[in-house]
Amino acid sequence: MLSNSPLRSNRPVLDLHIEATYRLTEALVASEERMRRRLDLLAEVVFETDDRGALVFLNQAWTGCLGYQVVACLGKPLADYVAAEDQDLFGRIMEGSGEAGVCLRLRHSDGYVRWMEASVSLLPDGGVVGALHDVTAKREVEDQIAKLSLVASFSDDFVLITDRYGFTEWVNQAFVRRTGYTLAKIKGRKPGSLLQGAATDPQTVELMRHWTREGRSFQAEVLNYTRKGEPYWVAMRVTPVRGRDGEVERFVAVATDFTALHKAGVELRAAKERAEAANIAKTEFVAMSSHEMRTPLNAILGSVSLAMDPTAGHGEIQDHLRRIESNAETLLRFISDMMDWSKVEVGQFTIERAPVSLRDCLMDVLASLAQNAQAKGLAFHVTFDESLPPRVMADPDRLRQIVANLTENAIKFTESGEVRVAISRVDCGLGGKPSLEFRVTDTGPGIAEQAQGNIFQRFERVHTSATHGKSGVGLGLYIVKGLAEALGGSVSVSSAEGEGSDFRVSIPLDLAPETAVVPGSENRPPVVANGAAANPPCILVAEDTNANFAILEIFLSKAGYRVVRALNGLEAVVAAESADLILMDIEMPEMDGLEASVRIRETERLEGRAAVPIVALTGHTADDYLQRCLDAGCTGFLTKPVRREVLLQHVLAALGHTADGP
Ligand code: ADP
Repeated sequence: MLSNSPLRSNRPVLDLHIEATYRLTEALVASEERMRRRLDLLAEVVFETDDRGALVFLNQAWTGCLGYQVVACLGKPLADYVAAEDQDLFGRIMEGSGEAGVCLRLRHSDGYVRWMEASVSLLPDGGVVGALHDVTAKREVEDQIAKLSLVASFSDDFVLITDRYGFTEWVNQAFVRRTGYTLAKIKGRKPGSLLQGAATDPQTVELMRHWTREGRSFQAEVLNYTRKGEPYWVAMRVTPVRGRDGEVERFVAVATDFTALHKAGVELRAAKERAEAANIAKTEFVAMSSHEMRTPLNAILGSVSLAMDPTAGHGEIQDHLRRIESNAETLLRFISDMMDWSKVEVGQFTIERAPVSLRDCLMDVLASLAQNAQAKGLAFHVTFDESLPPRVMADPDRLRQIVANLTENAIKFTESGEVRVAISRVDCGLGGKPSLEFRVTDTGPGIAEQAQGNIFQRFERVHTSATHGKSGVGLGLYIVKGLAEALGGSVSVSSAEGEGSDFRVSIPLDLAPETAVVPGSENRPPVVANGAAANPPCILVAEDTNANFAILEIFLSKAGYRVVRALNGLEAVVAAESADLILMDIEMPEMDGLEASVRIRETERLEGRAAVPIVALTGHTADDYLQRCLDAGCTGFLTKPVRREVLLQHVLAALGHTADGP
């Protein structure tokens, strides 16, 4: 029994019984003293009350925790020290009906409240013995966390709280919404074990672990994964929460989802790299273009000077002229490639659809390519599939361009062996529908597998002048791909280094109706015999450049036409009345060809005259200008440079059109 015992008196006794009682009492007193000293060493308050609730024992921790002197409190009810808010709870505890480990607020002698966890036992005499454990520091941290959690639960940022070892204690709603992990799912687990995945940077994870072990606050950007496996980027700040003793008790992580920003950053970096690469490509391209233009120009100028040499014989001059023609054509092809390249870039290929005889359409170009192949000593084979329909609906220029591009490459890169061109019908081609296939195979150097994916990109070259002595700007296949796709088809290559190449273009096969008329073949207008007509048609050529006019004049007069010149649009309007046909240059001083055409049509209407055919001549391509010329009243369109046969064909067709009347 612990109390301030009244047995502490030394009365002298004689008989043994009294002596024994005395010794026993002394031992008891010593034992009680010992017990008291031990209880005083405890950090917890130990107390005892009598049956009225008055304190009969307190250890020193009482003073330590609540500031009151023990002696001053003995005899007073314990309830006097309990905060008003917790009186009811205290009453229940003292009756033994309170829950174990429940927390009470007791008043410190300085007036503030301390949180004590109480555990009590009822004594048989109606008193109570118990212990009070000071949990104020813990409660304060919990309070802080509760407040923080309240704020955090309304935040759009993800908030996650772990214990000092990194095991999750709490997450807010924003976290649950984004990750799909509920608190129940993640509680007690290390966040990384659920959130990190295949592409999470292991170095960042290691650093975060290191900082956590050191109890440091840190910021990190990390790729996490939702429960469904969707990756998302977070920028997070992790802060350790320390107790009164300075030890880390938990970590609070606040994270912001910056996936969109990260993506924009990645795209920006990629765009920057692309821009840099494009810049390099542009510089190379300019150098390459200069080379591509200077090479044929060099041959042209050289041949011109040789042809002008007074000692040159007729045959020699013819050779020089042929060289001039072939190099001028190379130059023209290069310029056309440039134009087509820009169209592929903006997806602006205009595709015409007309009934076409594939043989007629491709034979000319293949015949001229055959000559190139033979000049290099290569065998050249062309096969037309017999099952191909006589006519298809297609754009003949685009088909020619595709076949020419692939075949020119095959001839250019092949040093020995053969080049084969096959044009066939594939019944289960594109999407199981009949398709038209162009296949160009060669016995050239082939293309390494890793390079095959790139060759259809602009300016990509495997065999360059530096490595293989081959010229080119790397646009041919890019244009072929653009054309094939614009026609609803595709291009592919199969090749191995040193084993030749096999290029295929497939486009949907569109049969022309039986009755369709194929332009430029069966229906060609009759050719006018040179100078045969007694009263030859008069052609007004509106052209300000002397050289261009001179060439047109020779072409036309040699074909038997009478030629009149206008130096600009104004002169053309005046002279239009006496012409059977006008070849109208578009870019002219004073008045351009478009305005002149409009004026001519107006005058004709006013004077009730029949419309004279006007064929526009321009350096712009048909895609850009055709509609503008038609709108101005032109009836035809020719792109410079104009080939002799093409010019005469157009002139004939235009004159025939007026002669017969539509
Ligand atoms: P260019 O011919 O102007 O270089 P292309 O776009 O036509 O550009 O071709 C791209 C690259 O593909 C060429 O530089 C060449 O390395 C490779 N290539 C194309 N056709 C063949 C072929 N038939 N045989 C070998 N390599 C080829």
